[in-house]
Amino acid sequence: IKCNDGENFSQRALTRYSKLEIDPSAGILNYGQGLLESLKAQRTKDGRILLFRPEENALRMKMGADRLCMPSPSLEQFVDAVKQTVLANQHWVPPPGKGSLYIRPLLIGSGPVLLMGPAPEYTFLVYASPVGNLHKMSMKLVIQDKSHRATPGGTGGIKSITNYSPIFKPISEAKSTGFSDILFLDAATGKFIEEASSCNVFTVKGNVISTPALQDTILPGITRKSIIDIALSFKYQVEECQLMVEDVMDADEVFCTGTAVGVTPVGSVTYQGKRCEYKTGAGTVTERLRARLAAIQTGTAEDNLGWTLTLNQA
Ligand code: PMP
Repeated sequence: IKCNDGENFSQRALTRYSKLEIDPSAGILNYGQGLLESLKAQRTKDGRILLFRPEENALRMKMGADRLCMPSPSLEQFVDAVKQTVLANQHWVPPPGKGSLYIRPLLIGSGPVLLMGPAPEYTFLVYASPVGNLHKMSMKLVIQDKSHRATPGGTGGIKSITNYSPIFKPISEAKSTGFSDILFLDAATGKFIEEASSCNVFTVKGNVISTPALQDTILPGITRKSIIDIALSFKYQVEECQLMVEDVMDADEVFCTGTAVGVTPVGSVTYQGKRCEYKTGAGTVTERLRARLAAIQTGTAEDNLGWTLTLNQA
């Protein structure tokens, strides 16, 4: 579905996946004026297709658009575009347990802009692709202080397209030495944990679940927000705080959250050559939270919080 500005994203078309025609001087190509989102559609055992909290993605895109001086589709336009894309590709939504349909909304400055500034025209589009289960058994993280993903006052707190390529190099270096991802420290003091490259992080110590408090250097993850609510409903104590390296090293469990990874346990964290290992698997708090979220997202648990949107009749 493609919408153009000028008429407030009202011109729409549902087209086959194909190459885009774009002006060489488009804002996105020259100045990186663009946002992305990610969601998943899941098929339930009784044949329904569910979206998880799509209005949260719409609101996050709106917030990012404001930061990047772009107009944004309304909440209704966003959710409708996602819905239409999934409905047109229903046959690509894998059966339960076999994966999901990954949905990628983009909002880009598509109009020509030669001198640095916001583009005169914008495009909102949504594409989708089936994906297998991305759930990894556990992650091996490394904390290092030579690279940062976000700086105060920058765009780390929105899903700007420009947030990702600067961390390709440190992430590929971490991967080449056997790690799955980096746990980034804050750029201002180098003392506090922020998040990994595309997921938020939590620690578990006894009955207390902690995660870094949101600020403009941390992406407000929708899975993060949902896990906080699930943890509170299970009567854990939840702290949004300044999480230090020592807190992570001292935790019983560590886990990451995100649309792609769901809730994934962290098996180890390495800092300055010291490696800490954590409990993973059956019987952990992480597994309890993971199972509950997955059950809501796949329709096997009752959704009494109204988080899922059913797109079709069973
Ligand atoms: N942090 C970053 C930098 C991300 O790219 C993502 C993925 N969207 C997340 C956290 C997790 O956010 P969500 O739970 O909304 O997918």
